[in-house]
Amino acid sequence: MTTLITDQKHIWHPLTQHKTSSAPVAIARAKGAVLYGEDGKEYLDGIASWYTSLFGHCHPFITERVTAQMQQLDQIMFTGFTHKPATDLAESLFKILPSNQAKMFFNDNGSTAVEAGIKMALQYHHNKGKKRNVLIAFEDGFHGDTFGAMSASGLSVYNGPFNEFLIKVERIATPQEDTIDDILKRLEEIVLHNDCAAFVFEPLVQGAAGMKMHEVAGLNKILAFCKQHDIITIADEVMTGFGKTGTHFASLQLDVYPDIMCLSKALTAGLLPMSLTTCSQHIFDNFLSDEIAKGFFHAHTYSGNPLACAAAIASIELLQSEEMQDNLRRITERHTTFAKALSKNSKAQNIRVKGMILAFELSTKMERYGNLRYELYQFFMDRDVCLRPLGNTIYVLPPLVTTNEQLAKIYGVIEEALEAF
Ligand SMILES: *Cc1c(COP(=O)(O)O)cnc(C)c1O
Repeated sequence: MTTLITDQKHIWHPLTQHKTSSAPVAIARAKGAVLYGEDGKEYLDGIASWYTSLFGHCHPFITERVTAQMQQLDQIMFTGFTHKPATDLAESLFKILPSNQAKMFFNDNGSTAVEAGIKMALQYHHNKGKKRNVLIAFEDGFHGDTFGAMSASGLSVYNGPFNEFLIKVERIATPQEDTIDDILKRLEEIVLHNDCAAFVFEPLVQGAAGMKMHEVAGLNKILAFCKQHDIITIADEVMTGFGKTGTHFASLQLDVYPDIMCLSKALTAGLLPMSLTTCSQHIFDNFLSDEIAKGFFHAHTYSGNPLACAAAIASIELLQSEEMQDNLRRITERHTTFAKALSKNSKAQNIRVKGMILAFELSTKMERYGNLRYELYQFFMDRDVCLRPLGNTIYVLPPLVTTNEQLAKIYGVIEEALEAF
């Protein structure tokens, strides 16, 4: 158990108040949908390790490709150099992205993918000689923890120390059945009083907000409004990308495609950290100039890392396989059946299913960061299932390789929780 002793001595964990939090769980290895603890316990990974491990852990199709790549080319600077893993990734990705996407820019994680997207949008207007300095974003959105991304995020409970350093953002509600007219009125009002550069949004499902879902039709109208006003639309698909909502990308369900897209998390099937900011040709063309300064002077040292590219290429291939598409349909069907059973329980409210995601609210009243979520988390872990409730929202987003027996186990502990809480 030296892991936990050294951990306590030296490690500062993310999203953790170390004074009050309990000790972390030491994981020795993971395979498929199962995490193996150092203490010999096994946990079912019901949220694909924060939506990254799309095909479960250590999938041989991915690990073998990365191992082979490792022996060819490990890392090379991406300014002045290029390589086949990067171009192969482009070829496979642009086949499945919305048809207006034309260029891809490498970053290291979801936050920096959004950060680069926001900077692209701001510089797009700057290059055109326009001053546009305000962002539009949904209430309760989450876009990451760097300053631009933090600005766009509406879940700002913990942003107190930084509020005065953030970019100005005007917020709109997510479109529900009969709210779109009010939202469009609010947008008219916003553009009347602000120079809006971009609209940053999670399409169809807001992950960190508790898998909150909204309407396709309403989102189409908001995007059309933005296009009319030359407001760059930035779809943050860091969570929704790669099959989560049933289609390869949530944006594919829309009639109006975003100008910029941010991809990470499952991009590399959970093997290596990498992200992409993709954009349409007209965004890119605005950076072409004889003036050097009109280029996009933004870089990360590990841009286009060949190992991460190899993982992403393999992941996109596996996602499109019949086996994984069958798994996706199977999981959606099982979720739907379980949702029907849940709907008979008055403690489960607002039950929703989209693609790989099942979510609902436990009717017990509580605030988002109250104790219930920790109690629920512990309740599930004690029953060998890793789920991470957000407030009173319980959600499941299992790896595609999760078997029907494993799904039944996850649903079973949720039913137990409904009895107990
Ligand atoms: C996780 C997430 C991010 C941040 O990604 P990191 O890799 O944690 O920086 C941004 N946007 C969305 C929608 C996310 O789910």
